[in-house]
Amino acid sequence: MAEGLFKEGIVGGRLESAQYAENFSDLHPPLDNHEALVESDRCYFCYDAPCMTACPTSIDIPMFIRQISTGNPLGSAKTIFDQNILGGMCARVCPTETLCEEVCVREVAEGKPVQIGRLQRYATDVAMEQGKQFYSRAAPTGKKIAVVGAGPAGLAAAHRLARYGHEVTILEAREKAGGLNEYGIAAYKSTDDFAQAEVDYVTSIGGITIENGKALGRDYHLAELSASYDAVFLGLGLAGVNALRADGEDANGVSNAVDFISVLRQSSDLAGLPVGRRVVVIGGGMTAVDAAVQSKLLGAEEVTICYRRGQEHMNASAFEQDLAAANGVVIRHWLQPKQVVSDGGKVVGIELEYTAMKGDKLSGTGEIVRLAADQVFKAIGQSFEPSALNGSGASIAMEGGRIKVDAEGRTSLKKVWAGGDCIAGGDDLTVSAVAQGRDAAESINRALMS
Ligand SMILES: Cc1cc2nc3c(=O)[nH]c(=O)nc-3n(C[C@H](O)[C@H](O)[C@H](O)COP(=O)(O)OP(=O)(O)OC[C@H]3O[C@@H](n4cnc5c(N)ncnc54)[C@H](O)[C@@H]3O)c2cc1C
Ligand code: SF4
Repeated sequence: MAEGLFKEGIVGGRLESAQYAENFSDLHPPLDNHEALVESDRCYFCYDAPCMTACPTSIDIPMFIRQISTGNPLGSAKTIFDQNILGGMCARVCPTETLCEEVCVREVAEGKPVQIGRLQRYATDVAMEQGKQFYSRAAPTGKKIAVVGAGPAGLAAAHRLARYGHEVTILEAREKAGGLNEYGIAAYKSTDDFAQAEVDYVTSIGGITIENGKALGRDYHLAELSASYDAVFLGLGLAGVNALRADGEDANGVSNAVDFISVLRQSSDLAGLPVGRRVVVIGGGMTAVDAAVQSKLLGAEEVTICYRRGQEHMNASAFEQDLAAANGVVIRHWLQPKQVVSDGGKVVGIELEYTAMKGDKLSGTGEIVRLAADQVFKAIGQSFEPSALNGSGASIAMEGGRIKVDAEGRTSLKKVWAGGDCIAGGDDLTVSAVAQGRDAAESINRALMS
């Protein structure tokens, strides 16, 4: 369990036990058959559909919706999986309000988009519940590929490579596969152990072996993989967490939001999970919102997100911000952390400084506010952990602290591709990681078979 996460005096069980199940139930409950038919009828099946262009995996959205409307959910699921084999998770976690649904013509015309995400979930659920597999493997090619990291990028790459008849070994540092689908996504977005069910669905194609507890840079090195496999795909995600850079941030009770969420996601007894009475979350993205909302759902009395810029600058979408507000989380803007206040080494509050734009530079104004807190979460971004690449032989080219790749996902090293959060220039979304893993697999296949 992450150090400093649960300081002495912080307890769980703040709610009636039945309340936990209710609080952590599905954020967007599934559509039933009738609802799916009615919703699919709202689609205009646009030619040159803007929703499809906005989808990072380019799913043929009008086609899959039409298949639902004609009573063919399995055909619809195949249309989705053809482009995005993790279409089930993406249906649950995609910020559709800033992707496909934002540009849906019914959103533009009426302010009420077709519920593309929920329809996608409907179709993929039908197929997965029936254990319906749409793909078989091509004849074995004799080529062996190592995929490092079993997150969305690695899983998508592995599935596409296995389809082409290659033999794939996924080397994963953690105990379970799934990456942030298993350890990071908010619990109310991925209920009923869906992440594991999806890993099972993806790997059931065959030809994919997952080895857990195998960390690149610790248990083996990139140069060894390059020597013993025909190609390597790196889907390492972001293992580092940015520091607050505030005095006293080592105090007991100050921890990384991602560690808290990871413990929460693996907990089989949410009532036993300690949470503070007054929780302060520093950050302005999805992780900050997820940590704050889940703290509230665990029974924290006051939860405040403090963000150093204005509402319009937050990475969390308007939907996520509304979700936080609807759950009683207070979001305060233009505040940056200065000092964690502790008593006997344990956090009791945090001092923050008001900020303002001076020209195009953000500066502290000198005015300080103190918030009482018995738990503080840092959610100010994650970073790529380059130590995994130690022992790469020739060093791999980096850009902005992440792995540099070309348009096909090729790194500067021969035989090595990369995708997902660990590469430069991405937007740190599940669906983008899937697209990059899939596209790198296509590039690997072309390189190996040409
Ligand atoms: C708290 C949180 C909430 C989020 N919520 C959403 C959301 O609601 N919607 C959305 O679209 N996106 C969300 N994201 C972003 C999304 O989860 C990521 O963009 C996505 O998981 C990236 O996939 P990936 O495969 O690149 O990396 P990851 O999912 O991080 O997977 C990387 C895998 O590599 C493994 N690994 C790392 N280092 C090594 C090593 N040295 N050796 C072997 N294996 C290694 C890791 O253990 C992990 O399994 C969220 C992110 C966070 C942190
Ligand atoms: S933009 Fe909206 S109405 Fe048009 S095809 Fe896409 S979902 Fe249907």
